[in-house]
Amino acid sequence: METSLIKIETPLTKKKMSKVKKVVLIILLAIIIALISFIIYERATVNNTYYIGEKNLQIPIFVYHNLVEDESQIEYDYMQTTVDIFEKQITTLMKLGYKPITYQDLIDYKNGIKAIPKWSFIITFDDGYTGVYDYAFKIAKKYNIPMTSFAIDDMVGKPGYYTWEQAKEMHDSGLISIYSHGYTHEKYDEENVDKLVSDTQKAYQNLVTNLQDEDLLKIFTYPYGLYTSDEEEALEKAGFVQNLTDNKVNTSKNLDLSRLHRMYPLDDSVFKILLKIQYRVIRYS
Ligand SMILES: [Zn+2]
Repeated sequence: METSLIKIETPLTKKKMSKVKKVVLIILLAIIIALISFIIYERATVNNTYYIGEKNLQIPIFVYHNLVEDESQIEYDYMQTTVDIFEKQITTLMKLGYKPITYQDLIDYKNGIKAIPKWSFIITFDDGYTGVYDYAFKIAKKYNIPMTSFAIDDMVGKPGYYTWEQAKEMHDSGLISIYSHGYTHEKYDEENVDKLVSDTQKAYQNLVTNLQDEDLLKIFTYPYGLYTSDEEEALEKAGFVQNLTDNKVNTSKNLDLSRLHRMYPLDDSVFKILLKIQYRVIRYS
């Protein structure tokens, strides 16, 4: 078929065609070689750990809300994830070499006292739903991996939310860290700064009391992801690590403990999650 096509070409076009073909072939070959070298390098260094400043790492923090048994229980894709999809996302990432870390690891990394794996990520759940205790905790135990749940103090123990007893059990296991998502679930961008600071201190003290942990880290996640820049500054002064819900990705270069970015994995395939990470790193850097 190709020969018959070439036959009707003029000699000049033929020459041009073969030149184009050559260039395309060279480009393709270069891409393949680059891709192979990239894979070889990434596989060879998959277990490397780095201190801050040694390498610009991407450190995605995933935000989930509730885990549910099956798809019929999903109302909004950003609020519920099925147990199977969640387990598959996490285990596939781990098979590729990604390693779940804790907020303590991240803080120590930022402060230059700890190295973290090249492909680190953090798993978080907002609101403190029962799915965290019923499903995420089981998966955390099954694979011995750390996760974090942000609890709303005045919702703990209410229908659909885990109890203080369950929160303490998760906390004591060392696998699920429990931090604050507010004393109540308010839109703090509509409140004044003092209210946010006093509510957040109160919520933190309440967690300390209920989890019986005087050394609990001061880590806060804004309800609805809403805040003002004054509030951000005030909580930073009060010593709180702050989580946003902005669908962006942290990198070592822009790692700011007062403005930690978090992204939704939704029910995406791992391939799609990885593409989204790259896209967001490029777009927001
Ligand atoms: Zn929330």
